[in-house]
Formats: sequence, structure tokens, C-alpha cells
Amino acid sequence: MDAHQVVVELKDVNKWYGEFHVLRNINLQVSRGEKIVICGPSGSGKSTMIRCINRLEEHQRGDIIVKGTPLTSDLKQIEQVRRSVGMVFQHFNLFPHLTVLENCCLAPIWVQQRPRKEAEALAMKFLERVRIPDQALKYPGQLSGGQQQRVAIARSLCMNPEVMLFDEPTSALDPEMVREVLDVMVELAQEGMTMLCVTHEMGFAKEVADRVIFMDRGQIVEENEPGAFFGHPQSERTRAFLSQIL
Ligand code: ADP
Ligand code: MG
Repeated sequence: MDAHQVVVELKDVNKWYGEFHVLRNINLQVSRGEKIVICGPSGSGKSTMIRCINRLEEHQRGDIIVKGTPLTSDLKQIEQVRRSVGMVFQHFNLFPHLTVLENCCLAPIWVQQRPRKEAEALAMKFLERVRIPDQALKYPGQLSGGQQQRVAIARSLCMNPEVMLFDEPTSALDPEMVREVLDVMVELAQEGMTMLCVTHEMGFAKEVADRVIFMDRGQIVEENEPGAFFGHPQSERTRAFLSQIL
């Protein structure tokens, strides 16, 4: 496939929550294999933007196209898009009453109709990849936050996503667990996964991002490759934000 294939495209995307204009003319193209880090103050619309990409939120104006499929109210198209988009949330969102293995097998069995044995083998492969195969038969509540987040990543990977969305995956973790999750994300990036990550882990941004995007008040204010973004931020708002977090 074409290395420059556009996997995700947002064209003049606008969204309102009631009267509140939360996303304003968002334009973004993500190519296959590209890694994008999104940062910005709390409330700037970062979560809303990435949640629109797999239709956890609905936009009202503009176009969102994932692998050639436009997101409209057509349920078939929404399902098709969701199959190629993996998502990892701040608060893991694992099912507490299911084991780690069962959490990972759920979608492959019920969405992809894989036989259980095959789904379990696949799940074990990804649990090994995030280095917790020994936790497979435990329940999420028996795991540390860092382990739970790695389960969430493995669970997403089981669906063989084309692109992975991360929404502040380390911000609910104790500091000593941040690294183990970032390490897994760095490996994923190095293996060529297309990634959109909302995170304020600027070390991660410098290490893997092709582009860093700064959002404020529903707009993309600035974007650049990490060196220039951190070295020579253009807008006053970006500078003010960076001075607070770095
Ligand atoms: P960020 O992820 O950058 O912190 P969000 O996308 O979560 O920002 O939120 C952007 C703005 O939209 C915030 O002002 C927030 O309060 C508001 N918002 C988020 N979700 C909803 C909702 N379901 N209904 C109304 N307002 C919302
Ligand atoms: Mg958010």
C-alpha cells in the first residue's frame, strides 16, 4: 500500500455542545505510520476531537474520513470505521467482572466472530507484547494501574487496528507506572503504528512524534515537528502553555 496514504482526515470539522462551539474548523490529515501528539490546556477540545474520529462524539459540520470511509449517521459506516480504529482512554475502561484474557477476547469473538481458541491465542500474543502474559487470568481490580493500561492497549491491538487513538493514557497513573506504559507506546510507534496521542508527556512527544499539535479553545493553534515546536513555538498561547508544563 501507498506509504503516503491518508488514514484519517478531518476537513473543516465543527462541533457544538448545545450553544458551546467546542471544535472550530479543525483540519488534519494523518498519513499511514504517522505519529501525532496533541497537547493543549484542559477544556481545549482534545478529547472531543479524537472521540469524533471513532464517533464516540458526533460532529455537526465538516467531514471526517477514516480509510476512505466518511463518518455519517450511517451505522454500517460507523461500524466499519470503529473496526479500524483502536482507542485507549485515561481510565482504562476494562470490564471489571471479566478476566484480563476475557477482556481481550470479547471483541474478537463477538465482533469479528473468531473461534474462542483463536481469540485466546491472539490475546496471549498481545499480552506478551505488553509484557503481562502472567496476568491473563486475573481481574482488572487485581492489577496495578500501569498493568491495567497495558491490558487496554493489548485489547485494542487484538482488533488489528489501522490507527490507535490515545487519550491521556498515563495521566491517571502513579508516576512510577508512567514509564512502563510509555515504553509500550514507543514500541508500537517504532513498529509503524499510526498513532494520535493526546498527552502532556513531552519526552514521549520528542521521542516519537512526527508532528506535535497544540489546541486551544477548540482550534488547532499551532503544529510542527517536535524540534521546532518545542524549540521555537510560534504563538504566544503555545509559549504560555509550554512554560507551564515543561
Ligand atoms: P480536553 O480533552 O482538551 O480537556 P474536552 O474535549 O474534554 O477537552 O472538552 C472541551 C470542552 O467541552 C470543555 O469545556 C468541556 O467542559 C466541554 N464538554 C466536554 N464534553 C461535554 C459534553 N458531553 N457536554 C457538554 N460540554 C462538554
Ligand atoms: Mg481530555
